[in-house]
Amino acid sequence: MSYKRILLKISGEQLAGKFDGGIDAELAGWLADEVKQVMATGTQVVIVVGGGNFARGAQLAGHGIKRVTADQIGMLGTLMNALALNDIFEFKDLESRCLSNIYAEQLAEPFVHRLAEKHLKKGRVVIVAGGIGRPYLTTDTAAVSLALELSCEIVLKATKVDGVFDHDPETHPEAIKFNELSGEEAVSNPNIRVMDKAAMGLALEHSLPIIVFDAMKPGNILAASKGEPAGTKITPVA
Ligand code: UDP
Repeated sequence: MSYKRILLKISGEQLAGKFDGGIDAELAGWLADEVKQVMATGTQVVIVVGGGNFARGAQLAGHGIKRVTADQIGMLGTLMNALALNDIFEFKDLESRCLSNIYAEQLAEPFVHRLAEKHLKKGRVVIVAGGIGRPYLTTDTAAVSLALELSCEIVLKATKVDGVFDHDPETHPEAIKFNELSGEEAVSNPNIRVMDKAAMGLALEHSLPIIVFDAMKPGNILAASKGEPAGTKITPVA
């Protein structure tokens, strides 16, 4: 069973790949090929890209930089990533459109619900820039909000490790991976940090499932989009 429409959330850090910041274009090209396989099954794909490889509002704010300005800078970072990703996807013959939730008409089409629907129905990947365009939010929250707005059946949240573990697997090699997790446990267990609370809360409230997985593992995006085992599935109890 393939999902009809999925939302893939990729962080800025992941897009930086082998570099400390900026964009690893080679990796993004590889990602295009992985997404192409998903599109070939008929699943429609929305991508929300983070901006942490350029700026994160919460870290940048201070010493005179207002939080709102810092978040705006963070949103500009997501736009830079989305523009690069869009070009790379098209270079790889994967039709895509960058739609921006911050005003940037010279650079991208505005995010308009009907326009996003039109592109998706025409078989184009929709890459959303600017999160949801308001400060004090992250692209994780934007991903859940946009998944709901665009009727995506699931959010695929890409992380460094393939799923949710009972301890940090990078420091605890004996950590155990959960194949499935209830939404309640994902928010109440202090050792588990999947997404920020606002994002998890919104997903739980609207019974939107989330898969936390390693999108950079070959074939993993395809597996997750087909409902095959990949990472950890968080199923909110309605
Ligand atoms: N941001 C925002 N509103 C949004 C989405 C993002 O203000 O709707 C800002 C916020 O400052 C955030 C930054 O953009 O820190 C980059 O996004 P995020 O930290 O989620 O990127 P990631 O960690 O996924 O690379």
